[in-house]
Amino acid sequence: MGDKSTSLRIGEILLKEGLIDEKQLQEAIVKQRKKTVYVPLGEVCVQLRFISKTDLQEILKKYKKRLYLGDLLVHMALLSREEVAQALELQKIVGKKLGEILIENGYITESNLVNTLSIQLGIPKIIPAPGLIDPNVLRGVSKPFLQKNDCLPAYRDGESVTVIMSDPLSEETLRTMRNLFKCKIEPAIASSEDIQKGIKVVFDDLRMVDAAKDKSTRCAAKNVLIVDVNSPERNEDNIEDILNFIISNAIADEATDIHIEPMENMLRVRYRIDGVLLHKTDLPFFLGPNLISRLKALCGLDIADRRRHQDGRLGARIMNKGFDLRVSTYATINGESVSIRILPNQSKLMDLEMLGFSPAVLDLYKNILGIPSGVVLVAGPSNSGKTTTLYASLKHLNDMHKKIVTVEDPVEYTIDGVIQGQIDEKTGLLYTNFIKSILRQDPDIIMVGEIRDKASADAVVEASLTGHKVLTSFHTDDTSSALLRLYKIGIETFLISSTVISVMAQRLVRTLCPMCKEPYTPGADILAAFDSIHPIFPEEHTFYTARGCLECNNLGFRGRTSLSEIMVVNNDMRDAILNRLSTAQMRVVARKNGGLISMREDGFYKATKGVTSLEEVLRVASYNDSDALVKRSAEEIVAACEMEKIGQTQYV
Ligand SMILES: [Zn+2]
Repeated sequence: MGDKSTSLRIGEILLKEGLIDEKQLQEAIVKQRKKTVYVPLGEVCVQLRFISKTDLQEILKKYKKRLYLGDLLVHMALLSREEVAQALELQKIVGKKLGEILIENGYITESNLVNTLSIQLGIPKIIPAPGLIDPNVLRGVSKPFLQKNDCLPAYRDGESVTVIMSDPLSEETLRTMRNLFKCKIEPAIASSEDIQKGIKVVFDDLRMVDAAKDKSTRCAAKNVLIVDVNSPERNEDNIEDILNFIISNAIADEATDIHIEPMENMLRVRYRIDGVLLHKTDLPFFLGPNLISRLKALCGLDIADRRRHQDGRLGARIMNKGFDLRVSTYATINGESVSIRILPNQSKLMDLEMLGFSPAVLDLYKNILGIPSGVVLVAGPSNSGKTTTLYASLKHLNDMHKKIVTVEDPVEYTIDGVIQGQIDEKTGLLYTNFIKSILRQDPDIIMVGEIRDKASADAVVEASLTGHKVLTSFHTDDTSSALLRLYKIGIETFLISSTVISVMAQRLVRTLCPMCKEPYTPGADILAAFDSIHPIFPEEHTFYTARGCLECNNLGFRGRTSLSEIMVVNNDMRDAILNRLSTAQMRVVARKNGGLISMREDGFYKATKGVTSLEEVLRVASYNDSDALVKRSAEEIVAACEMEKIGQTQYV
C-alpha cells in the first residue's frame, strides 16, 4: 500500500463527490506532508475546513465497501500506514484475516475496532447475548455453522434478518446468510470473542428453555424481576427479556442512567457510568416502538400518546436489591427517546472523610464548619456532588447540642436528629417561606438546599445576620464567580462580605481502575495545560494513565472522587468584594493572600497520588487563565495539599 494510493483514494472520492476542488486537494496534500505526525487526508481536509466532520463520516460510510479495513483504520487515525503495512506483510505469512492479525499482535484492541467500525460505518453494535436477541430466529440453524461463520442471527423483521457479525464488511458471510434466510440481511457488529461466547450460551439457553417449557421458570432463573405495577399479560415476543437485559445490566454495571435513543436507522442504548456515557449496545430500529410502549405500560404512562413528553416511575428488584426507576420520554423526530434514572432505594450517607478531599481541604473545611455563624457556600454545576457534600457536612455537625433545620428540594437522605423540610412548588411553599419559619424554630444550623434567586439569597443572608450558621449550594462554575453572582443578583456587597465565610467549588472526576492503571510520562502539552504550576519536573512524580480491563468495562476508570477549591473570605477578600473586583482579580487576591489552591491544582495533586489521570482532571476542572499570574511549583502544590501550609491561612 503506497503513500500515493492511500492519499489519492480518499482525495479522489472527495473530488468526485464535489466536496473539494483540485486546488484544495493539492493544498491538503501539501499540508499533510508538512505534518510531523501522520494525519489522514480526510482529516486534513476537515482541519482546513474544506469539509465538515459529518461530511467525512458520511463519505466513509457511503464508500465503506470500497475501502479496505486497513485503509479505513488509517483514515480513522487508529493505525499508521506503516503499522498496516507491517500487518499486511504478516498476513502474507500466516494467512489470517487482517482484523485478527491486528488484534493478535496488539495493534488495536477488539472492542476498539468494534466501536470504531460501528460509529464510522453506521453499523449497529449489538451484544450477542441471550435475553437481548430473539431465539426464534435461530430455529433450524446449526451451532457449528454459526461458529464457523463467526456470526449470530438476532432478529427478524418481515423481509429482513439482522445478523451480528465480527466482520460486517465480509461479502462472503453476507452472501452465506442471504442464502440461508432467503431474504435481505442487515449486518450488525460485535467482537469475534463475544460472538463465539454468545453462540455457546444462546444454544445452551435454548436447550434449557426446551427442557423447562415454561417461561416463568426461565426468568426466575435469571434472578431478574421487574415489579410490574399494572401487570399486563406476558407476550410471546422477547421484548420483556430485552428490557430486563437492559435494566439489569445497567445495574450490574453500576450505571446511574439508561438512555434508549432512536437514531435514523437504529435504536441506541447508552449507560451513564461515573458521569460518562458508555455506548452499551444498539438494537434494530423496528424494535423501538414496541420496546418503549412496553416500558411506558409498566410505568402507567399513556401508550397511545407518542407526541407528548411524559414522566413516570417503576420499581425494580434486581439481585435482591430494590431500585426506583424514574422514566422520562421525549418525543424526537425519529420517535420517542427514553431516559431512565436509576435510584437505589437506600443510599448511604457519606462522611466528610469519604468525599476524597485532599488532607488540606478536609482540615480547612472542618475548621470552617466549626465557626458558629456565617454562610458556607458549596458551588458547582449539576451533578458535581454538591448535595453529597452538604449532607456529609450535616452529618459532621449533627449532635445532641445543636438544632439543625433544613429546607430541601427534595429531601434525598433522612438524617436522624435533623429536622428536614421539603419545598412544594404546587402548594407555593418555596425556600423563602420556609426560611422565615425556620428562624422561629430556634435553630443553630440551617441548611438551605440551593440559592435559586434573589429572594432565597436574601433569606439566607438574613438568617446569617441573625447569628445562624447557614449551609447552602449555588449553581455556579467556581468560587469567585459564586461571589460575583451574588452581587449580580442584587445582594449588597457589604452584606456578602459580612456573611459569607467561605465558598467551596467542586467537580467529580473518575478514579483510575486500580487493576489496570499504568504509569506513564505525560506529554509536554498536557503538563503545559497546568499553567499555574511551574516548574513541574515530571520525573519527580509518578503519573498514571487509564488502560482498561474486564474489571472496569474497558474504561480504565472505576468510581469517582471530588476535586475542590476553597476560597476563604478573610480581610483581603472582604476588601476585594467591597471594591467589586472582577473574578480574575478576586482569584489573584485569594491566591496571593489566602493560599487558594485551584481545582485544577487539586486535581494535579490527586494525579501525582495515582488517584486519577491528568487528562481526566483537564476534562472536568474549570480553567481560570488568571491563576497563572500566581504560579507555584509542583512541589509546593503537593506540599500544600498535604497540609504543609504555604503561609498561615487566616480563617476569619
Ligand atoms: Zn481496569
